[in-house]
Amino acid sequence: MTGPREDVPGSYCAACGAVVHRPLRSGPDGRPGATCPRCRSLERHRFLSLLLGVLSPELRDLDLVVEIAPSRQSTPLLERLGARRMVSLDAGYDARAVDALASIERLPLRDGSVDLLVCYHVLEHVPDDAAAMREIARVLSPRGLALLEVPIREGVETDEDLTATPEECLRRFGQRDHVRWYGDDIDERFSAAGLATMRVTPPALLGEAAVEWFRLMRHEVVWIARPGCGRVSPMLAGGAGSGLTAAFDAVLGELARTRDQLGRARARNERLAAQRDALRVRLAQRASVEEPRVITRLRRVARL
Ligand SMILES: [Zn+2]
Repeated sequence: MTGPREDVPGSYCAACGAVVHRPLRSGPDGRPGATCPRCRSLERHRFLSLLLGVLSPELRDLDLVVEIAPSRQSTPLLERLGARRMVSLDAGYDARAVDALASIERLPLRDGSVDLLVCYHVLEHVPDDAAAMREIARVLSPRGLALLEVPIREGVETDEDLTATPEECLRRFGQRDHVRWYGDDIDERFSAAGLATMRVTPPALLGEAAVEWFRLMRHEVVWIARPGCGRVSPMLAGGAGSGLTAAFDAVLGELARTRDQLGRARARNERLAAQRDALRVRLAQRASVEEPRVITRLRRVARL
């Protein structure tokens, strides 16, 4: 995790695509430097934006994009992909706006119909996560990709308990409505459900410097999944370069715009300073004319 650096005048938010000059706000759990003050994106939204950029060669000419448990920060990123159809689904435990209420354990979608499915922070809530994973594998088209994210602990097996009380869930799984905390066996679980996966983290995908520059979370893990089993082939090899170039091009474009704005502000300041100097000169001239008259008048008054 990287906190805001006070010596950096601005940071680039990959979610809203702007150079942000105010410090990033803390996140939901109080972690510093997490939330963009402009669009309220968190690290995971900024990483999703960059990941979609890296995957862009794989995401051309999309028919159906499905987002499960959408957010105000993630949906615009998916809309930019220009898919012919976008559908958002959620189980309806909160009031978020979605196209349809549905359980991920039984998706109301045809076999092989989805080119991109995004499902962040859902599986840890779902009682039958194996069914949910099988549903994701079922609806993905042969070229389809799923981007999946769950909380994970390294070095331990998944801990789960469907009978735990909310208090115990909070203690064991980090949240009252979580039924498990995933561990090292998650990749085998995906594979058993018919999903071939590959893990990506911000430093592995973008390099160490980008983690700081884009205000990402070093240990965040996203699973890129395709229908199949085992590991996804390293499909990023071809795409990473162009996607990253696009991301940095966006940064450079934004910096150039900021530089233009600064240039215009500076020119305006110079114009105003010139007007101020001219005014001072005129005032001085006027004073040199007026002063003797005033003095004469005062002398006259004094003699009276
Ligand atoms: Zn932002």
